[in-house]
Amino acid sequence: MKTIGMLGGMSWESTVVYYQLINRQVQARLGGVHSGSCLMHSFDFGEISRLQQAAKWDEATALLSSTGKALADGGADFIAICCNTMHLMADDVEKAAGIPLLHIADPLGAAAKKAGMTKLGLIGTRFTMDEPRIIAARLREKFGLEVVVPDAAGRKIIDEIIQTELVKGIIRAESRARYRAVMADLVGQGCQAIVLGCTEIPLLVDATDATVPLFDTLELHATAMVDMALS
Ligand code: GLU
Repeated sequence: MKTIGMLGGMSWESTVVYYQLINRQVQARLGGVHSGSCLMHSFDFGEISRLQQAAKWDEATALLSSTGKALADGGADFIAICCNTMHLMADDVEKAAGIPLLHIADPLGAAAKKAGMTKLGLIGTRFTMDEPRIIAARLREKFGLEVVVPDAAGRKIIDEIIQTELVKGIIRAESRARYRAVMADLVGQGCQAIVLGCTEIPLLVDATDATVPLFDTLELHATAMVDMALS
């Protein structure tokens, strides 16, 4: 089995779900008492969040790049950034690490295409919704998928709830209702499915909160990590 290098802690509330899914899937596939071979760096999210909010992307790139390299030096066979937003610097991190990086948009794009989707609604941090280089451009260019994000008011709701509640593990029915309204609006614009493009969003919403299928980037990414580890 290959060793997965995980850049985690962004936030740990979702990294714990990644870790659990990876181990459960390896056990289900290999049987017995097997579990994943993982090497993880779990960042202090306070530090990551400070860099994001101040748009210190060069500093963030340097930090993730040196960590990716450390995971490679420590024996990881490939790396994965356990977060959508920080895929902004995925290419730099992969280059610095010198080993393959499993991009979160790739299993997502493949799953959406396989399901026959052509137009997706994307919700995530304001960075992910505002900056196409993180997810949307890759879905368009590599998979031919159209990507729609909420209007400005919707983006504000989605981002604020992530930053002030979900990364702290705070789950509120009121916030779920606000997410449902934003997702319904995207469906009204013809989106055939919604991408949960932030790894904390599945803590708040599930399939019962929308009238179209949901694509959970965390679940798809973790499954692809197991596929790669066992290939
Ligand atoms: N886990 C979130 C994501 O998937 C990001 C939290 C953050 O980095 O601001 O984008």
